[in-house]
Amino acid sequence: MSLYTGNIFMVVAPSGAGKSSLVNALLEQDSDVTLSISCTTREPRSGEKPDEHYRFVTVEQFMALRDNDGLLEWAEVHGNFYGTPRDGIQSCIEQGRDVLLEIDWQGARQIRRHFPEAIGIFILPPSIEALESRLRGRGQDAPHVIAKRLLAAGSEMSHASECQYVIINQEFSVALAQLAQIVSATRLRYATQAARNADLFSQLGISKTPN
Ligand code: GDP
Ligand code: ADP
Ligand code: 5GP
Repeated sequence: MSLYTGNIFMVVAPSGAGKSSLVNALLEQDSDVTLSISCTTREPRSGEKPDEHYRFVTVEQFMALRDNDGLLEWAEVHGNFYGTPRDGIQSCIEQGRDVLLEIDWQGARQIRRHFPEAIGIFILPPSIEALESRLRGRGQDAPHVIAKRLLAAGSEMSHASECQYVIINQEFSVALAQLAQIVSATRLRYATQAARNADLFSQLGISKTPN
C-alpha cells in the first residue's frame, strides 16, 4: 500500500449544469484521476457506452448489488436508481490514485460518512434559463424527462452549501480551469505533500504532520 492516500472528489450538480462535460474534459487532461463508473437503472442515452459512462443494470440487478453490500452509496434520482460500486474506490485511493464521483447530493452525504475527507464540488448553471436551454439543447432526454429534471433542479441546488467548492459554469474553459485548480490545490495540501515526499521531508527535518 502506498503511503499516500488518494483524494475523493465528488462533483454534484443539477442535471444539465455541465457536470459530465466538465468531468470528461478534466479526465482528458489529467490522467491521474480515475472516474468511478456508477450503476444505474436508467436507459442508456444514444451514444452512451456501457461501462464507460455507466454500468446499466436492471432494477433486480441493482437491488441484488445493494443487498450484497456492493454499493458504497445509492440513491433514487429522477425516478431511477443510481449507485457507486464499492470495489474500485477503496483500492484506487489505497494506491494513491485520486477518484472522481459524479453523484447527487444524497450520494455525496453517504460518501462523506465513509470518507469525511471527501471533497465536494458543486457545479451551478449561470441561470435557470441557461440550465433549461442546455437540457433542451443536449437533445438526449424526452420532454417529460427534461421537465422532471428542471423541477428537481431547485432541490438539488438547495444542497450546494454542503460542498466546499462552487463552480459557476458560464464560460466552459473558465469552469474547466477552475475544476483543475481545485484538484491541483488539493494535491498540494500539507499532509499529502508530506506523504508523497516523505524522504525529502525527513532530509529537510520537516514535520510530516500539519499543525
Ligand atoms: P445528468 O444529471 O444529466 O448527468 O444525468 P444522469 O442521468 O447521468 O444522472 C442523474 C443524477 O444521478 C445526477 O444527479 C447524478 O449526480 C446522479 N448520479 C449519477 N450516478 C450516481 C451514483 O452513483 N450515485 C448517486 N447517488 N447519484 C448518482
Ligand atoms: P450534466 O452532466 O450536468 O447533466 P452535461 O455535461 O450533459 O450536463 O451538459 C448539458 C449540456 O450543456 C450539454 O449539451 C453540454 O454540451 C452543454 N454545456 C455544458 N457546459 C456548457 C457551457 N459552459 N456553456 C454552454 N453549454 C454548456
Ligand atoms: P443522468 O441520468 O442524467 O446521467 O444522471 C442524473 C443524476 O444522477 C445526476 O445528477 C447524477 O449526478 C446522478 N448520479 C449519477 N450517478 C450516480 C451515483 O452513482 N450515485 C448517485 N447518488 N447519484 C448519481
